[in-house]
Amino acid sequence: MVVEDDLQIADSLSRALRRSGHVVDVLGSGRDADSLLLSQEYDLVVLDLGLPGLDGLSVLRNLRQRQKQTPVLVLTARDGLLDRLRGLNLGADDYMVKPFELAELEARIRAITRRALAGSGGDITVGQLCFKLAARRVHVCDIAIELSPREFSVLEILLLRRGRVVSKAQIQEQVGDWKELTDGAIELYIHRLRRKIENAGVEIRTVRGFGYLLQATDEIA
Ligand code: CA
Repeated sequence: MVVEDDLQIADSLSRALRRSGHVVDVLGSGRDADSLLLSQEYDLVVLDLGLPGLDGLSVLRNLRQRQKQTPVLVLTARDGLLDRLRGLNLGADDYMVKPFELAELEARIRAITRRALAGSGGDITVGQLCFKLAARRVHVCDIAIELSPREFSVLEILLLRRGRVVSKAQIQEQVGDWKELTDGAIELYIHRLRRKIENAGVEIRTVRGFGYLLQATDEIA
């Protein structure tokens, strides 16, 4: 969820997030955000503080009073120490002061998402595949499998977005080292991963022209 009343910022932010594979709801008012957060679960909220109606700090306070641990990244034009302290006291996970670089914001979002997963134990299980994020280990049917750091990172991206198509460009962006990670290299990692997890009840499908999709075999119609 992106809560931002500045249309230009909301637009560039939501476009960037969608480009990197997120599903985004954009809201321009604190009250709308507050009521949607009552009924919907989000992986992350990017929350502006200066909003018409209900301000961002109140949205955050209400969310935490409902015992919701949804990660919140606060955006603010006000770089006053007091606001930062208030936000952090109210349970914001991170801060960005406007104007900010989109790339920086996306990096923070990735870090928050990872922390949230690690905090929940960091284990993702799909089929017989158990992915231990914090320990950076992968088990198939309780047996540890050997993955190179690159293979691990590619699998991590696919798992964090399981059920959604991930493009090669997104993999390049997240694994880093643009120049080194060619399309051919990604294809090779995918090929190796498929062999290493072939008994896991998990399939990495090629969606021609779009990218890759990780699914549990029994979810495939
Ligand atoms: Ca604002």
